[in-house]
Amino acid sequence: MRNLLIVLSGPSGVGKGTIVKELLKRGDYSLSVSCTTRPPREGEKDGEAYFFLTAREFEKKIAEGGFLEYSRHFGNYYGTLKDFVLEKLKSGDVILEIEVDGGLQVKSSHGDALLIMIAPPDVGALRTRLAGRGTENPQEIENRLKRAEYELSKSNLYDYVVVNDDLERAVSEIENIIKREKE
Ligand code: 5GP
Repeated sequence: MRNLLIVLSGPSGVGKGTIVKELLKRGDYSLSVSCTTRPPREGEKDGEAYFFLTAREFEKKIAEGGFLEYSRHFGNYYGTLKDFVLEKLKSGDVILEIEVDGGLQVKSSHGDALLIMIAPPDVGALRTRLAGRGTENPQEIENRLKRAEYELSKSNLYDYVVVNDDLERAVSEIENIIKREKE
């Protein structure tokens, strides 16, 4: 069985984080830790949630070719460390929780990566979740909803689309997709 590079994307508020947590609890996956220039949210630790870099540090890494993919969205850089992921991939499946531009960059450099888009049952559900988690102000929520439309418009370029209508069902569907792809 081959080790899979699994890209999970989906708009802010779709419940990606919860799905990833559940997958990690149930299966033997490792999660990539991305770099970002956005400031840490309360409780986010450097090296766990993200590696928090300054824009200068991030741009230096871009110049060195240190990223497997990166993108700039919501006014900040986000990127996946190439060595970090390729090293983890030697010993098992690796999950990247990243947005679509990055996901498509991964697909173009690693054609055998598995791209899964997580979609909301409807856009109203996104607004409710984003407002409920209280980590973004109203303007940021609007920006994220606009971005959500863009992300979902790229779904057809992904290998699979999984609707997060029910956590248990969505996680099982993803596990089944991964199982099939590994065989
Ligand atoms: P947040 O600021 O809410 O943690 O993340 C915002 C968005 O950035 C999410 O859609 C998340 O999936 C995406 N993201 C996180 N890490 C990376 C990364 O390394 N590369 C790319 N392209 N997007 C990322």
